[in-house]
Amino acid sequence: MHAKNYKMDQLKEILSVRQNIVITTHVNPDGDAIGSSLALKNFLDKLGHSTNVIVPNDYPEFLKWMKGNNSIINFSSSKKLSQNLIEDSDIIFCLDFNNLNRINDLGELINNSSSKKVLIDHHLEPDNFYDFKIHDVKASATAELIYDLLIDLDSSLIDKEISECIYTGILTDTGSFKFSSTSSKVHKIVADLIDRGINISDISNKIYDNNSIDKLKLIGFSLSQKLELTCDGRAAYIVLSRKDLIDHNFKKGDTEGLVNYALSISNVNMATLIIETKERIKFSFRSIGGFSVNKFARDHFNGGGHKNASGGSLEDKLSVALDKFLESISKYSKDLNY
Ligand code: 5GP
Ligand code: MN
Repeated sequence: MHAKNYKMDQLKEILSVRQNIVITTHVNPDGDAIGSSLALKNFLDKLGHSTNVIVPNDYPEFLKWMKGNNSIINFSSSKKLSQNLIEDSDIIFCLDFNNLNRINDLGELINNSSSKKVLIDHHLEPDNFYDFKIHDVKASATAELIYDLLIDLDSSLIDKEISECIYTGILTDTGSFKFSSTSSKVHKIVADLIDRGINISDISNKIYDNNSIDKLKLIGFSLSQKLELTCDGRAAYIVLSRKDLIDHNFKKGDTEGLVNYALSISNVNMATLIIETKERIKFSFRSIGGFSVNKFARDHFNGGGHKNASGGSLEDKLSVALDKFLESISKYSKDLNY
């Protein structure tokens, strides 16, 4: 049975009276996940709702400055509280992901909840678990969809702090306005956010110039010792074992952006970062141009994402996972030669 699809005016009507609202986002939240969630939370609070953001697990320090950050609930360390809030909720917003399997146990709680579910997302091929959907794969970030929604609901409530959250989502998900998703509309939104008082150099500083020495040394080590080419120089990859991470005092976020160095090599059209986590082997895929890493991740690594940025995982030993990756990518060697 398909979930009922509420129209925008129905959502507006629901939001016209005070509701208990939960906002959630994907595992390993990134700038778009946290920026979108906090923009929406701050806005809904201003409308008079009771709003809680629940994230599946922790996120990098460089995102822990936006308004509302201190109230974010981490499901992995506050399960009972999260469960109570979900039980008491009227509406659950699901931001920046489109498949409840992506958020593990939290997804199960949400799936079993009778609250209305609102999906706001820009990833390919959403699952049908929602009552209301705002979905556009052309959107540069979920934060862009949040901006459109807030403008539609009440543009006068978008203050400087909310603007900072939206900007963070767009900045990080467009690779600092470099990806092809960066439309003229994105720049018009940013112009409006600047008019609403954000300081872009201050935000850039908080996000990008906030590295620890351990992170930079891990990047240096990865590039000098672990960077490899395959597929006649068209694909690059980096493999990091648990030991590599422990040796460099790894903290969440320390490998963020690392895969892009591999992609920046001349003639390389596809790059992969392979990380041995405690539970599984995690893959990050990036491509330039026609090769769909979304399809590659779906077909071989239980994953997905976007055409040019995706991820997946395998529950194998690192050496087995690496062999599987090398075998899979070798089949596409010709497709990467453009
Ligand atoms: P990252 O490599 O930065 O972890 O993820 C890149 C993109 O792929 C993000 O948009 C992310 O949401 C998506 N992604 C990462 N891992 C997975 C996964 O295991 N499954 C799915 N469906 N998407 C993923
Ligand atoms: Mn996103």
